[in-house]
Amino acid sequence: LAKFLNASVYVSDIDKNSKNKKILIKEKIPFELGEHSEKCIKTDLVIISPGINPKNEFIAKIKSKNIPIVSEIEFASWFTKSPIIGITGSNGKSTVVKLVNNILLNKYKNSLIGGNIGISFSENVLKEKTNELNNVIHILEISSFQLENIYLFTPHLCCLLNITEDHLDRYIDENDYFNTKIKISKNIKNSANIIFNYDDKKLNNLFTKIKNTTPFSITNKISKLKIKGNKIFSKNNDLIVNQSQTKLIGKHNFYNIVASIIIAKKFKISNQIISKSLTNFTPLEHRMEKVNINSKITFINDSKGTNIFSTISAIESFKNDIILILGGYSNEKINKSRILKSLNKDKIKNVICYGNVGPILKSLFKDIKPTLYYKAFEKAILNSIKIAKEGDVVLLSPAFKSFDQFKNFEERGNKFKEIVKNYYA
Ligand code: ADP
Repeated sequence: LAKFLNASVYVSDIDKNSKNKKILIKEKIPFELGEHSEKCIKTDLVIISPGINPKNEFIAKIKSKNIPIVSEIEFASWFTKSPIIGITGSNGKSTVVKLVNNILLNKYKNSLIGGNIGISFSENVLKEKTNELNNVIHILEISSFQLENIYLFTPHLCCLLNITEDHLDRYIDENDYFNTKIKISKNIKNSANIIFNYDDKKLNNLFTKIKNTTPFSITNKISKLKIKGNKIFSKNNDLIVNQSQTKLIGKHNFYNIVASIIIAKKFKISNQIISKSLTNFTPLEHRMEKVNINSKITFINDSKGTNIFSTISAIESFKNDIILILGGYSNEKINKSRILKSLNKDKIKNVICYGNVGPILKSLFKDIKPTLYYKAFEKAILNSIKIAKEGDVVLLSPAFKSFDQFKNFEERGNKFKEIVKNYYA
């Protein structure tokens, strides 16, 4: 985007094997890989990737020279006048972004999804400009990292799904993380366009103090929608959707559905379209994904469940006995008492731990549940299959990152599905 705008661009990437090398050569953009050299300081503006920790020494050096640093979403937002929907939260962002896009595409054919979901906002703004697209809506998944260096970034509408403790390797404490997340709303003038989860204590505390915001809830405490069991009705009692008729499992997904309806309503989408889009929606891979095999045991791939809160919501989604597979990698201090308190549920029949954090988890659970530990992921899965009985749910919702044995959560989830499918082949 910067090059398209005729800026003189220089790219610096600490990754020696950056996958961007090919495109940089093709686009004739000068670059350096494997270091951040003094060349980066001879500039008018630095656009920072969300992956870079603000405590990074090189960033301190840039700041000491008073060179402005902006996040990539800030930069991209300067060059579009189209409405932006910003969706943030600790869990559920990708799901809600996709749900909202699925609904809005019925009315706005140039609805574009971007941000933390894997397509940068700049890429979409460039697409909008080069193709002279009309009637664009940018639906952005926004992480706290992307909000660290925003100044003028103003979504037309923002939605805060939930805020639980996360990324404490990067933030001083929970408040620091919370304050970064809520920056998504700081430039929104019309507070009705701030949509937040009323049932989330921290969000409730903050946003109910602001007049005319738009809360959502899955109880009937607030009256935007009517909730009866699994069914969601409009204020005038039209049935919008019955969760049982969607492929979205669990209470957390009920929240995601409610949030998506509230957003869609702001764009005056009819109940009929919302209903059709929600029932046709295929859930994202690796999020409460049912593995398609012929067995009396249910296998759920929730490899994206990389923190304790997503694992809690995964467990809450089932009434059956669960064989829970936990483990992976952590670069944060492990909060043992919280893990024990939140995961020690009756319906968990066995705990299978694997990977780097496996031994710690085993020591936590071994006295309260039948617990097994295997370093290798594959062994852990095979043994979970062996101990499962008819009617059980084998749930991979590991609560930790995948990086000890996999490139990412997708690779871990694919491996899980492969092992299960091969077993039943
Ligand atoms: P994100 O993009 O915020 O990481 P995803 O939609 O990819 O969120 O879901 C990540 C994980 O969090 C999934 O494995 C799912 O089980 C869990 N999850 C999804 N939505 C919610 C929610 N609203 N509340 C709690 N957990 C959720």
